[in-house]
Amino acid sequence: TAPYLGNPKGTIEVLQKYDFVFQKKYGQNFLIDTHVLDKIIDAAHITKEDFVLEIGPGIGTMTQYLAQAAGKVYAVEIDKTLIPILEDTLQGFPNVTILNEDILKVDIKKLAEEHNAGKPIKVVANLPYYITTPIIMGLFEGDVPIASITVMVQKEVADRMQVGPGTKDYGALSLAVQYYADPYIVANVPPNCFMPRPKVGSAVIRLTRHKEPPVDVKDEKLMFRLIRASFNQRRKTLANGLNNSPELSFTKEKIQRTIEACGFREGIRGEALTLADFARLANALADTGD
Ligand code: SAM
Repeated sequence: TAPYLGNPKGTIEVLQKYDFVFQKKYGQNFLIDTHVLDKIIDAAHITKEDFVLEIGPGIGTMTQYLAQAAGKVYAVEIDKTLIPILEDTLQGFPNVTILNEDILKVDIKKLAEEHNAGKPIKVVANLPYYITTPIIMGLFEGDVPIASITVMVQKEVADRMQVGPGTKDYGALSLAVQYYADPYIVANVPPNCFMPRPKVGSAVIRLTRHKEPPVDVKDEKLMFRLIRASFNQRRKTLANGLNNSPELSFTKEKIQRTIEACGFREGIRGEALTLADFARLANALADTGD
């Protein structure tokens, strides 16, 4: 079966047939542009060997494309009114499994173990924007075997994921994403490619998981606590950010000493530090005594 959605006519027909009502709270903006769909599928480098997890299939537009390219597709959709629609639009695609569940409640690691023998899976989605960060961080931090994540997100969020220090978009999300993966913005996508049109611009970003972490850090959790502490109080110095964090309990003296020992200038702000700098800081704080 060939994909037949991905355009305004096919989408409207399906929506009318089922009297579908869009739910704002679920971030429902369906893709209606075949060029964008082709680009996402190309960028995700999917082969018949791949197990693909799709988050939020909607009416199955991208699922049809994924089903053609992949070995197996697992599509997780929270909105139960979409399930009968998906059963209809995906009936010619036997390699698709639909699950009516909240993706934040799904044990994705177990899913990969059960359905892909624990081998790395590919995640592809036009994400519901209200939960972009918890979804991405859950995938990276949850010990899930991931090869790549190719997703549509809010343009501003895609920018945040790929920038380095010295820009206003740089923050905890940039560092977290870049610790786990190599980000690449595939395309910017304007609102008119969706139904209904979102109020913000969108972008497709591919995050290819690093084989080895790009920095050597002894205590990952400590590094991320330092990162959060630094960006929670953007206008404060690094020293103040670390002193004031409820997640950290180093003495003022130790923080001061370690910042100096790392060779950072006095009064430096956290937003000037690279991932390698945060790794160095975490290793130094973990090493020395009080
Ligand atoms: N993939 C479809 C497309 O491209 O046309 C729909 C994309 S739409 C931006 C996001 C989809 O995610 C919607 O179908 C929405 O119902 C679903 N969704 C929202 N929150 C979800 C959650 N917590 N778990 C699973 N799906 C969710």
